[in-house]
Amino acid sequence: MNTHLWHPCTQMQHLGATPPLHIDRGEGPWLIGSDGTRYLDAISSWWVNLFGHCNPRINAAIIDQLNKIEHVILAGCSHAPVLNLSERLAALTGLDHVFYGSDGASAVEIALKMSFHYWKNTGQPQKTGFVSLKNGYHGETLGALSVTDVAIFRDTYAPLLRHTHQVMSPDTRQAWPGESATDVAHRAAADLDGWLAGHAETTAALIVEPLVQCAAGMAMHDPEYLRLARRLCDRYGVHLIADEIAVGFGRTGTLFACEQAGIRPDFTCLSKGITGGYLPLSCVLTTDHVYDAFYNADLRLGFLHSHSYTGNPLACRAALAVLDIFDSDDVLQQNRIRAAAFNTLLEPLRQHPRVRYFRNQGMIWAFDIANAGAGFAREFHLAARAAGVLLRPIGNTVYFMPPYVVSEDEMALLLKTCLNLLNGISKYADSTLPNAPAVP
Ligand SMILES: *Cc1c(COP(=O)(O)O)cnc(C)c1O
Repeated sequence: MNTHLWHPCTQMQHLGATPPLHIDRGEGPWLIGSDGTRYLDAISSWWVNLFGHCNPRINAAIIDQLNKIEHVILAGCSHAPVLNLSERLAALTGLDHVFYGSDGASAVEIALKMSFHYWKNTGQPQKTGFVSLKNGYHGETLGALSVTDVAIFRDTYAPLLRHTHQVMSPDTRQAWPGESATDVAHRAAADLDGWLAGHAETTAALIVEPLVQCAAGMAMHDPEYLRLARRLCDRYGVHLIADEIAVGFGRTGTLFACEQAGIRPDFTCLSKGITGGYLPLSCVLTTDHVYDAFYNADLRLGFLHSHSYTGNPLACRAALAVLDIFDSDDVLQQNRIRAAAFNTLLEPLRQHPRVRYFRNQGMIWAFDIANAGAGFAREFHLAARAAGVLLRPIGNTVYFMPPYVVSEDEMALLLKTCLNLLNGISKYADSTLPNAPAVP
């Protein structure tokens, strides 16, 4: 086997048992292998794809841009795609200033640095701490990993990471008997309150994944948590960073998840779906208030951060095409109709005796499997793949995060595949395969 390519998030020694799919082409929600086999991309290629593979409108926008300028340095230069995109994102979020990065993790780094630097510029350099949620995920670079709480990714590198604090997650699955999702949100907010009461002086920001902690296994929470967190951040003088990298661009049912709580964060991180899954692009949006703290004759008070491909014109054109599709196809409303139909369709899964905590938020579905054995995630992945469906369970959580263009027939295939596997996988409960790490 060719091992020049070192795969991400992979123990290369497992490659023999789980050979990578060799994909030649894509068509809507389908991936097509070099042998012609078709796989339904039920995870939107790691949560990035919105409008299908090889989308004609996004393709056309990129090709048009390709014939003008492919890339130009964004320090000392600008271009129409990045100016237009900034204006549109500002209008959509109510956050007026957009700073670009490349990947999600780079956006998180930018938000953390910018928050700290804001406090330093405004005379509170002791605010160097960050607080995040239990089981939160914000990326794999050292700063982002410092606020990430997923043991399999974090523990090995612990000596390299900044010490940060994790407060209770508002994950609704933790509800005690008789407790509602809102009650859990209040309980989690009380934990945050307790921490900030003692540590606000040295805390720069709270970072959260609004509504769905995706890498935790699609842990969902009540929007009330975001309102309470916003209030606490205001009361204690701490920034609120919304990491909408996975949940942004309609995934939770609104264009941005924070809209469902009616709050405005101090920083919003965007990536993944921003280009419809075409090209790496990320950004951090922030307020006039934060921007003004950097606006000064002194160079060092400015935000001297950069990435080579910042604001790449091809990626910005893909992002503009994505926003055009949202407008012209009334995507949010269409997704509401789709989601309602899919919820009805998926009812047999909700009812299945091995399924626990069946949950849905916008265009994300997830459920946990009772008595899943150690090798469950990998075996389920392989068995689904053999049935023509690309799924990557996280631990014992199976989730669907399909491109928005998925049809009811395709969701029916997903349902049938899962039911077949669930009815046939009792053997997985005592699997002898090595433990599959809980990876997204
Ligand atoms: C994927 C993800 C990131 C990291 O993005 P990359 O592009 O993989 O670096 C950060 N935060 C959240 C919530 C994510 O889901």
